[in-house]
Amino acid sequence: QDTVDDVRIAMTAERKTRQLIAIGSGKGGVGKSTLTANLAVALARKGRKVGLVDADIYGPSQPTLLGNYGQRPEVSEDKLVPVASKFGVPVLSMGHLIDAGRAIAWRGPMAGKALTQLIDAQWGDAEVILVDLPPGTGDVQLTMLQKFKPAGAIIVSTPQDLALIDAARAGQLFDEAEVPVIGLVENMAGYACPHCGELSDPFGKGGVETAAGRLELPFLGRIPLHMDIRQSSDAGTPPAAGDSAQAAPFLAIAEQLDA
Ligand code: ADP
Repeated sequence: QDTVDDVRIAMTAERKTRQLIAIGSGKGGVGKSTLTANLAVALARKGRKVGLVDADIYGPSQPTLLGNYGQRPEVSEDKLVPVASKFGVPVLSMGHLIDAGRAIAWRGPMAGKALTQLIDAQWGDAEVILVDLPPGTGDVQLTMLQKFKPAGAIIVSTPQDLALIDAARAGQLFDEAEVPVIGLVENMAGYACPHCGELSDPFGKGGVETAAGRLELPFLGRIPLHMDIRQSSDAGTPPAAGDSAQAAPFLAIAEQLDA
């Protein structure tokens, strides 16, 4: 297993090839897409040339998160041209290709083909591409990992025991594909009451850091459950683009990736 240092070195070394970093989770709804969008924005703020592939084929949310929903990618030399966003992060998502509200009901091979078109696109001078994986540990994920061999992967989980069991499974998926895990992120860690400021832990506390220790993987940081994160995400303005307190945890994680 490569270590986080190997991946860091690879990211900072002069790169002839572009690197993919996959963001995965054992299950849906834990904030994988939110983290991916904010990490991409945070890396772009640090001057990185970063792109984002929304590989969550059946539930694409990046066009909403990055505020470019409704735009269509152009095609050049038979390849898709990523759609620009206000945050310096070009992005490609199924959400840019299908009509609003239409469900995608493809079988594995179709989904695989679509994914290939999103990744094998006109990424120009992007140095690193973050890939928002579909939730879970199915065939599409494994095939994607084996085919495109990301340089590393980040696993997101809530502190809840059940989510953690699934996160460990995601770790196994990356192992199987021989993709080194850069580390674990704990999302929805602690809730500050907007009225009285009291802190509570709806999903438990510190579980992901403990799990990281048990799995011998680096712990990259925790992001609190905060209403502003949900609201600004829905509004297409990732908190990492601003200077609110909610930007800080995302910037800190990006800092570690880019150290
Ligand atoms: P996933 O990609 O794992 O399915 P999402 O990123 O779509 O999860 O997040 C699920 C929902 O939770 C979204 O409505 C999102 O805005 C919200 N959310 C994610 N992280 C946080 C957080 N730290 N605080 C508040 N809301 C969050």
